[in-house]
Parts: sequence; C-alpha cells; structure tokens
Amino acid sequence: MTEICFYNTLARKKEGFKPIKKGLVGLYTCGPTVYNYAHIGNLRTYVFEDVLRRTLEYNGLKVKHVMNITDVGHLTSDADTGEDKVEKEARKENKSAWDITDYYAGVFKKNLQELNIKPPAIWCKATDHIKEQIALVKKLEKKGFTYRTGDGIYFNTAKLKDYGKLARLDVRGLKAGARVALKDEKKNLTDFALWKFSPKDSKRQMEWDSPWGLGFPGWHLECSAMSTKYLGQPFDLHTGGVDHISVHHTNEIAQSEAANGKTLANYWLHGEFLIIQDQKMAKSEQNFITLATLKNKGINPIAYRYLILTSHYRSKLNFSWKSLAAAESALKSIYHQVEQFDNPKVGCAELEQKFIKAINNDLDTPQAVAILWELLKSNYPTSAKKKTLLEFDRVLGLGLDQIEKQKLSLPKAVSKLAQARENARKKQDFSRADSLRKEIEKLGFKVEDTKDGLTITKKD
Ligand code: AMP
Ligand code: ZN
Repeated sequence: MTEICFYNTLARKKEGFKPIKKGLVGLYTCGPTVYNYAHIGNLRTYVFEDVLRRTLEYNGLKVKHVMNITDVGHLTSDADTGEDKVEKEARKENKSAWDITDYYAGVFKKNLQELNIKPPAIWCKATDHIKEQIALVKKLEKKGFTYRTGDGIYFNTAKLKDYGKLARLDVRGLKAGARVALKDEKKNLTDFALWKFSPKDSKRQMEWDSPWGLGFPGWHLECSAMSTKYLGQPFDLHTGGVDHISVHHTNEIAQSEAANGKTLANYWLHGEFLIIQDQKMAKSEQNFITLATLKNKGINPIAYRYLILTSHYRSKLNFSWKSLAAAESALKSIYHQVEQFDNPKVGCAELEQKFIKAINNDLDTPQAVAILWELLKSNYPTSAKKKTLLEFDRVLGLGLDQIEKQKLSLPKAVSKLAQARENARKKQDFSRADSLRKEIEKLGFKVEDTKDGLTITKKD
C-alpha cells in the first residue's frame, strides 16, 4: 500500500494523510453560490474535489462527503458590503429569490452529473440551517467574540490568538494600515459579519428573526454550522478554490475554533484557477464559459474533464478551445481503443502500482494520464489493458465503464450497417461506405471517423 499524501495549505507542505477514524474520511467541499450558472472555472474545482474523493475511495477508504449550497448571505463584495447576490439577481430576473436558487442549484447538480462527478452523500442549504447558524453566533457571543454595529453582529478577529493562520495573514501589518482604511464601525479590518440586519429602507425576500433582530446570516457562518453538524469537529478534509484561503476559509476556521475550542479540519486542499486569456474566469467578467456553451458546440463535457486531468490541481490551467479540441480527440481515441479491446481479464499489476503511486502523491493526475497512455501503447494483451483501464477510471472518471453499455445498446441493425461500412472502406469502396453512413444516420446515430477508426454515437 502506498501512503496517500496531500499538500496541506495549513502546513504549506505535503503531509501523509491519516483519517481521524480508521477507514472513514469526513470531506467538506464548499459548494456554489446559486445566483447564476457555474462557469467551467468553478467546475474545475469540483472535478479536482471529485478526483480527491475517488482517490480516497480507490484506497479503500469510505468517504462521507458533504457539500453546501449557498442560497443566502453571499454579498457582492466578500468584505460584507454590497447587495446579496441572490436578491440582486432575483430583482433583475423578476423572480423570487427562492425560484432563482432552486433553478441554479438544479442546473449545477446536472453539470456535476455531466462531468461524471459523484454527488455528495449530503447536500445542505444555508437557508435550511438558520437555527444552527443562530446557535453558533449565540455561542460566540457568550464567549465574548462578537460585537454589534449598526448593520449587524460582527466577529472580533483581534480576540482570536491565531486568526489568519491558514492564509498566514500579517494581522499586525493590517492593523497598522487599518486606521486609514476603516470607514465603518468595524473594529478591525479583518472583522466579518456573523449576522446582518435587514435594511431599513427596503424589504428583503429572505430574512429571519433572531435574538439580534430581523436579518440573515453572514456568508461564512453556514459552512461552520453545517460542516460541524454533519461531520463533527475536527473532521478530516476541507476544500475549495484558492480564492477561499484568505477570507472564507480563514473566517470559517475563526468561527468554529473560537466557538468550540478545537481544530476545524486537519487538511485543507485548494484548487488553482482556470485562466482564460491571462485572466481568472469569473462570474462577473465577460470571459464566462458554461458547460452549456461547450455542449452547444457539440463538445462532450467529459473532454473538458480530461483536459482538467492533464494539469495538476495546484497549477493554473490556461483554457483555450484548441487545447479542449486536443483533449476531445485524445478522449475519442481512448474510447475507440477500449471499444475494440477483449473482455477484461487479469490486469497489468506493474502499471496499476505506478498509477496508485501517482494519484496518492497529491493527486498527480497529469502523471496518471501519462500512465494511461503508457498502458494503451504497451504490448499487454487487450484484455489486460481493459481490466487496468477500468481500474484507472475509478479515479479518472472518464466514463469508460459506460462504453460497454453503449455498445450493447447499439441496435443490431446499426451494428450490421457499421460492419458493412467498415468492410466497404477497407475495400476502398467509398461511395458504398458513404451511402451506408447515411443509412446509419437515418436511424438516429452519428458516425465519426477518427485517426484510430470509427465511432458511432447516438445523436442528441
Ligand atoms: P462560488 O460559486 O463563487 O462560491 O465558487 C465556487 C467554487 O469555484 C469555489 O470553490 C471557488 O473557489 C471556485 N472558483 C471560482 N473561480 C474559479 C476559477 N476561475 N477557476 C477555478 N475555480 C474557481
Ligand atoms: Zn464554505
């Protein structure tokens, strides 16, 4: 058994992974704010987290995976100012805030499915956990970590000895500059809202009574309340994109550790950004590409998953249509080869060993993909290749197990025509091959010739 190791942001180095409970891992992944479609940058982070989960499972560990849905409290500025993103979008689309979040959460879950991302064991919504969030603020209040301003209840970061440890924030340096920058009633620049009061001059759609007045929870509060509720404290693994290190995760740690006097999570993993034309892909920018954009261009979402796997999760990934096209043709070639392989028998132990070493080394997916190609190009019998590929795919999630099913679901008439077409092509009878292709298409199937041969797929 090779040891699993991860780069832990908390320690700023790779560490051997040891779950708290033997054989069982608690994993909390910060979910989406559902006021818009997820872009393919966001989805890169969820693919990385899926590979993480699959790697743990591949090592025989059971994973309890929890993901939240932020449907309230995320303001247009991460610094607790501006409007609630959901309420703003609801006004723009002239819909209720609840309809907006239901709709975008639904599309998000479908996106995960299309990328072959395993759903978490527990989905939890911020609006379903208001009681737990209020209880957490009460606890912090009792311990003297809070204060009141004109617009809410705030966490006093100066009261927590190691505030900012995850991001290695220079709290003293921040304090020095704070006198100039502090415009509102916040005591320290890094203080953040636990509970915000509803505005006096307008009515919010989402608001609740609390011991401090009508309002809504601060963005970070939900993750502290829900992770502890479902996974206990401490739990094993907490993840998100790198942008969460300095504010969101830092504040989750502050709240939970101040309230309960214990570490929140032992390992913190962060995925790097998807970049497009030298800029971070962001919901607020014009550079926003969704999975639907890809599908409308006829690109299989799994080709995007493959592209993600070819770079390490801690490196920036530069998106281009050209690299996506290359990923798609690589994927097609893998699919095509697997289709031709004999039924799986004994696997290739040597390469399987190499593979687990790669993924257990801080999820080295580029290396894992290279090993997949080493296998395909090797002289092993195709039955062995197939067995090993299916093993690899438990982690990579390229849907190779679906190929058999698809092949079986190809109607007899279609496979007969396809066979006849292959024969015609071999005899260089291209006009007959062409008319056979048209017949196949009439039956609702798409025929594609790749450099490695023929693929037939059902038309959408
Ligand atoms: P949000 O819905 O804005 O809360 O973001 C959902 C997840 O996507 C978070 O884990 C973010 O860190 C992550 N994220 C945001 N932008 C990008 C990007 N360009 N590339 C990769 N991940 C991102
Ligand atoms: Zn979170």
